[in-house]
Amino acid sequence: MKRVGVIGGGQLAWMMADAAQRLGIELVVQTPSEHDPAVSIAKETVFAPVDDATATEILAQKCDVITFENEFVNLDALSVLAHQGICFRPRLEALAPLLDKYHQRCYLRDLGLPVPQFLALDEVENLKSKIEYLGFPVVLKSRRHGYDGQGTFIIQDFATLEQKLSDETTTSLNQSLFLLEEFIPFERELAIIAARSVEGEIVTYPVVETQQEQQVCRRVIAPAEITPNQVAEIQAIAHTLLNSLEVVGIFGIELFLGTNGKILVNEIAPRTHNSGHFSIDACETSQFEQHLRAVCGLPLGNPALQCASAVMVNLLGYENSHSDYQSQRQQIAEIPQAHVHWYGKTESRPGRKLGHVTVLLDNQNREQAIAIAHNIESIWYPR
Ligand code: ADP
Repeated sequence: MKRVGVIGGGQLAWMMADAAQRLGIELVVQTPSEHDPAVSIAKETVFAPVDDATATEILAQKCDVITFENEFVNLDALSVLAHQGICFRPRLEALAPLLDKYHQRCYLRDLGLPVPQFLALDEVENLKSKIEYLGFPVVLKSRRHGYDGQGTFIIQDFATLEQKLSDETTTSLNQSLFLLEEFIPFERELAIIAARSVEGEIVTYPVVETQQEQQVCRRVIAPAEITPNQVAEIQAIAHTLLNSLEVVGIFGIELFLGTNGKILVNEIAPRTHNSGHFSIDACETSQFEQHLRAVCGLPLGNPALQCASAVMVNLLGYENSHSDYQSQRQQIAEIPQAHVHWYGKTESRPGRKLGHVTVLLDNQNREQAIAIAHNIESIWYPR
């Protein structure tokens, strides 16, 4: 396989470029805007939204296999292409149960994996009594197209829930677009990146701790400070899921570690994931190289850390601007063992992921990793 089509041209596609070059692979990208990060590294671009299957048919003519950096695709329309023999990796059947958060929860539960208690709003006859079973606070989520906390609302009481539902439903058709779930008072949030090859071999990256603020990932510490049993449990979850879906490629799995030590699956990303960016600088094989290896039918690489630990910090937009933030980036790059990745976006907006930095460490010390992250944030964000 020499030419890989990528649906989506954001930073996740952009970060495949180095690995593609090393592996002698050309990337062809489907993305709507000429300003999207991956346009600059693509051999060719089909300019179209990711859910435009007619554009994907054109993409398919230019490459040997198609993969995803964005899963908000039109699966029904793509299945027609799959039936014509176009090769998608992961296969469309592996994405199908995941694109709707309610279906995803059902799929995980039916596999016997631990998930928070949940219900779809269309099942609700007596909302008030069902909510009592979940208890407040409760988490209201858009079933589709949520990312970076868009469409996730933590709700404290029934009046606010009713209010929110009437706000949201006037703009977005009806309540069946929502999922309700119990609020997990987690001790930590964790994630694992796992890859599965065409032959069914699975490798997993170290379990990491992720730290979110306002539902958006701010920092990742690799490896997470958890017990070997917890690591084994999370690896087993990854194996069960990837084998069950017969995944080819990388999946990101987000988890909660409860205050009671119990692990629950929060969310599955059927692609490379923000919680795996540390692997570019910290691991022998990055998640991006691993993904390309898997979808091209190559043997998987070594996912192990090449340093004692690492901390990754997202550089999020905090204003509307066209600045390239040269001086802040320069200052961050001067931190020992820091690797700055700048996605080349031409426009900054609050919360937008503009880049990230990974710092490699020669020991495992959570407090020190957090202190380094805070130092980076104090350089990046204005006081
Ligand atoms: P998205 O798809 O937008 O990333 P997630 O479902 O991953 O949405 O939620 C984003 C963040 O919101 C999580 O990382 C977590 O911090 C918080 N969150 C989501 N669901 C719950 C829950 N059931 N209990 C507690 N916090 C939650």
